[in-house]
Amino acid sequence: MSDLPIRDELRGVEPYGAPQLDVPVCLNVNENPFPPSERLVADAARAVADAVRGLNRYPDREATRLRERLAAYLEREAGVSLDAGQVWAANGSNEVMLQILQAFGGPGRTALSFAPTYSMYPEYARDTSTHWVAARRDDDFGIDEDVALKAVAEHRPTVTLIASPNNPTGTAVPLGLVSALHEASDGVVVVDEAYAEFRRDGVPSALSLLDTHPRLIVTRTMSKAFAFAGARLGYVAASREIIDVLRVVRLPYHLSAVTQAVAVVALEHAVELQGRVAQLRDERDALAAWLREQGFEVAESDANFVLFGRFADRHAVWQGLLDHGVLIRETGPDGWLRVSVGTPEETTAFKVALVDVVKEQR
Ligand SMILES: *Cc1c(COP(=O)(O)O)cnc(C)c1O
Repeated sequence: MSDLPIRDELRGVEPYGAPQLDVPVCLNVNENPFPPSERLVADAARAVADAVRGLNRYPDREATRLRERLAAYLEREAGVSLDAGQVWAANGSNEVMLQILQAFGGPGRTALSFAPTYSMYPEYARDTSTHWVAARRDDDFGIDEDVALKAVAEHRPTVTLIASPNNPTGTAVPLGLVSALHEASDGVVVVDEAYAEFRRDGVPSALSLLDTHPRLIVTRTMSKAFAFAGARLGYVAASREIIDVLRVVRLPYHLSAVTQAVAVVALEHAVELQGRVAQLRDERDALAAWLREQGFEVAESDANFVLFGRFADRHAVWQGLLDHGVLIRETGPDGWLRVSVGTPEETTAFKVALVDVVKEQR
């Protein structure tokens, strides 16, 4: 093994991923806990059968029908008018993000983000040989504009990455900050809106800036609010020029005909799939309030999870919960844990287990 000519930065590195354990209550990867309806299952099965009839042929390389439907969805969701040429799709927003780094990062270039944030970002940078810089977020996990602008001036990033709402903290950043970063840098500014549909009322989407910010890229996913994590469909909205560059670096036929067909069906059922989003937002606010009542610190969240703490030994708490059949995520700043919002039954199981575990550890 050690004789293999592995790149130095990959030597001894473990593959990324949260533990996939067979546990009764899984609240660790921010999935939507509600499965698709039988009606959607039937429609998707029919669409898959049709797609399979044509699998002797390569899929539509441009995923045109899907991109048209995604543009129409974004128009409904955020009130922003887009056409298919301003939208791009790939296998999860993970792949979209890698394509962005392939197109705008690379050797001798820098990607900038603000920690604590999504732990995949440094991996995209590593895999594209892009220099990685993480500036600090505030104590309340917001981004201080002076700190951000100083980091841009110092590092001259070609890619600035902002998750909003941020993972693992749940923090949304104001659009004024996105605008200031765009103005201060010559690079692309990426706002990762994987959790956008869970934002609280009055919190705008960066999609509304696309018109006036030509180097802005907004990424979205069907993995969270859409309850479609298993289908692997992420997408991006940006200028036509940016989309055309992403089309240069994508692998040919990267998005299978089956994925495209299933995603189109999901978009036809968007209202149903997202019917539970409002409920999950209410559950999130209730869970945050309950955690505060128990005396925990809780980060403000516009996502479908809550970061809470602080624990002298967070691993012991995580393990204790797992011993009670509840899997959450040991991530983020030391002393904090992240729990996804589940069904009411799952949330109750989490609360009961947490009270027990904390009592046991006193
Ligand atoms: C979950 C998540 C994604 C989505 O990844 P997919 O590849 O679309 O499943 C993207 N960004 C952040 C910050 C996330 O937490």
